Amino acid sequence: MNVDVAIVGAGPAGSTVAGIVASAGLKVAVFEKEKEIGRSPCAGYVGCIDFPDISRKVIQSKVDSMKTFFPSGKCMSFLINGFNVDRGLFDKELALSAAKCGAVFHLNSDVVDLIGKKDNYSGVRIRGGRKINARVVVGCDGASSVVSRVLGLRNDSVTSIQYDISNCKVDPGVNEIFFDLDYAPGCYVWVFPSGGNSARVGLAVRSHLAGKTALEYLDAFISGHPVASNKFKNCLKTKLSAGPIPVGGLHERICEDNILLVGDSAGMADPVTGAGISYSMLGGRLASQAIIKAIKADDLSLLTEYEQRFRRIMDRHYQKSLTKRKLMDSLTDNRSLEQNLPQVWVTFKEYWM
Ligand SMILES: Cc1cc2nc3c(=O)[nH]c(=O)nc-3n(C[C@H](O)[C@H](O)[C@H](O)COP(=O)(O)OP(=O)(O)OC[C@H]3O[C@@H](n4cnc5c(N)ncnc54)[C@H](O)[C@@H]3O)c2cc1C
Repeated sequence: MNVDVAIVGAGPAGSTVAGIVASAGLKVAVFEKEKEIGRSPCAGYVGCIDFPDISRKVIQSKVDSMKTFFPSGKCMSFLINGFNVDRGLFDKELALSAAKCGAVFHLNSDVVDLIGKKDNYSGVRIRGGRKINARVVVGCDGASSVVSRVLGLRNDSVTSIQYDISNCKVDPGVNEIFFDLDYAPGCYVWVFPSGGNSARVGLAVRSHLAGKTALEYLDAFISGHPVASNKFKNCLKTKLSAGPIPVGGLHERICEDNILLVGDSAGMADPVTGAGISYSMLGGRLASQAIIKAIKADDLSLLTEYEQRFRRIMDRHYQKSLTKRKLMDSLTDNRSLEQNLPQVWVTFKEYWM
């Protein structure tokens, strides 16, 4: 098969690129290793500003407030404006809209390698041996990206785990975040309502600070946290999902020859919050513009405009967030976490000063 653009991964990054590039008339194929789109683990929070036209069908909860709990149990509420979405449906809608623009999706297609060598990549190889020739390859294959690994790039990450829970007592408009080294060393626990009496409850841990597995921490939180465990008496755990979240910031390069990296494969998730949907889609939009320009001008050196533009917009964001990540990593007892929390968490004004 010969295409203009081969996209690896059908998450928010991949489907964003696919839709825009296909709309410009280019031949686009998306390769997704899963049999179904929308399997990535996610708590599903997105800000209203980033998604003004979000479809009603994917919204599970409109969120107006974030409660932030200190290790001592002290709690502060902050106004926020966003949605908790059904991530499976969200990804499916994005893919469907890209398919309507002409992008062709190949499910159950695990990309295992690039074809060719440095300075001369010519496409991707799918498990089983099928080869796809492409002028441009876009790695949108998430935090454990094969494409970035082939380019010799690796990201620092945290381990995350999450239960979908029903029959619990949560306030539908309130996302809760718990900081406590006894439950989420180096990171935090989230309790995000997902409609009715359901919620997603998850956490991430920093391996150098953790003495147990992420699952042990999560079970301990649900059954034993002094404030939160009351919400979960008689609850039903309906699904367990897990995955790495990049926290090392943007890779040293996100464009090499005719290969672009977008989304978590490029390290775009925020190093403190772990949020990455909107950054992946911003990256997708900028990558698409560069791809269209480069292919139409028959000059692939123009692809580097993607990296230049993304860095111009986002470099300061990652610099700040990485400084906060380092501070968070250095807080090894709850007393110092309690004192420093306003410096490391985004809802406090001290974070931004
Ligand atoms: C537990 C958890 C909770 C999170 N909560 C939030 C949140 O509330 N809000 C937020 O903004 N962000 C959140 N994130 C981060 C967010 O999920 C990611 O930043 C976002 O999904 C990145 O999008 P992406 O398209 O780059 O990658 P992904 O969404 O990971 O998509 C990558 C796709 O590529 C496919 N793929 C992988 N390897 C291959 C291969 N070799 N061949 C073919 N296909 C492949 C995968 O199956 C997947 O479909 C969370 C992450 C985790 C792990």
